[in-house]
Amino acid sequence: MSASTSETEVLTRRPSTDGSSVEAATTVEPEIIRYHSTSRKVLSFVIFPTMIVVPMTVYFWLVGRGYWPPLVIFSVSFVAMVVLTILEIVHPYSRYWVPHGHDVRADAIHMFTSELVPYHLYQFMFNGLLVATSKKIMGGLGFEIWPHHWPILAQLALLLVMMEFSQTSFHWATHRFPILWRIHAVHHSSPKLYWLASIRFHPTENWLAAVCMVTPVVLLGANIEAMMAFSMFINVFGTTQHANICMTPTPLFNYIFAMPELHRWHHSKDIRCNYGGYLSIWDVVFRTRHMPKSREQQPDNIGIEGMTEKFPKGWAGQMLAPFRDQRELYETPAQQREQNSVATEDR
Ligand SMILES: [Zn+2]
Ligand SMILES: [Zn+2]
Repeated sequence: MSASTSETEVLTRRPSTDGSSVEAATTVEPEIIRYHSTSRKVLSFVIFPTMIVVPMTVYFWLVGRGYWPPLVIFSVSFVAMVVLTILEIVHPYSRYWVPHGHDVRADAIHMFTSELVPYHLYQFMFNGLLVATSKKIMGGLGFEIWPHHWPILAQLALLLVMMEFSQTSFHWATHRFPILWRIHAVHHSSPKLYWLASIRFHPTENWLAAVCMVTPVVLLGANIEAMMAFSMFINVFGTTQHANICMTPTPLFNYIFAMPELHRWHHSKDIRCNYGGYLSIWDVVFRTRHMPKSREQQPDNIGIEGMTEKFPKGWAGQMLAPFRDQRELYETPAQQREQNSVATEDR
């Protein structure tokens, strides 16, 4: 079932790089769907908070009843992903962002190699050493640094703020340093955003991200229950953030959370901003947050500037892409300028 045309209107304006909107000179196929009925607007308003609050509530309820947290995380995440798939069909954001079969195949393999393997490898390599070091530090100090006496939600909030600092800094570095960009480009290589694309990462990047994000909090003696709740939170947040679903909750969220609207700008070809993974507070502090005043101005040029057709679309090719001669995967700046001038002449 797709969105009915009587309820939708096509947005044909394209954002220009100077922040203004320009009309597309050529006929543009339906891109961003706008919903006008009250029921659709209410749905757009409530989807995001519901997709976060309900899974987290269910998670705490089941864990409180004694269920094993990793099993609860897996089960709740699975149900959330089914719901996201249904919402992408019945309430999409863009008709162009429906993934092809090869996208789904590649991303499904990424789910195992990029999500499960790097984190468990990191745990296997460092966890014992870090926990022992943390105990030594606490023993030497004679008190615990981590506020274990705080309510679990307060501890989760502290973890979110601390780990987002590492996440935002690391993510910024992947865009700043060419050697890190080689691995991060795999995530940006998708020209579409849908929930499964949130999992498309090179495992090297996720392993390095785990080193940056988890190491400091484990050394500080972070509570394992809060860490588990954090895993649940980022699972549902990351997938909802990338989902091809029309979500327009209160704009206030855009100052606290790395909402889908902000992250879509991060994935646009010509604007580098919004490095936050789940909170936007550090983007506000570092002045890297970008969100136009008008919500109607939204990016439609998702992907990497100058990426050629040679960039691999399959999982194996994406694993090897960071180690290939990058000149094969991207046009030179001169070629990009030539392409842009041809595109301008065509308008
Ligand atoms: Zn990025
Ligand atoms: Zn992303």
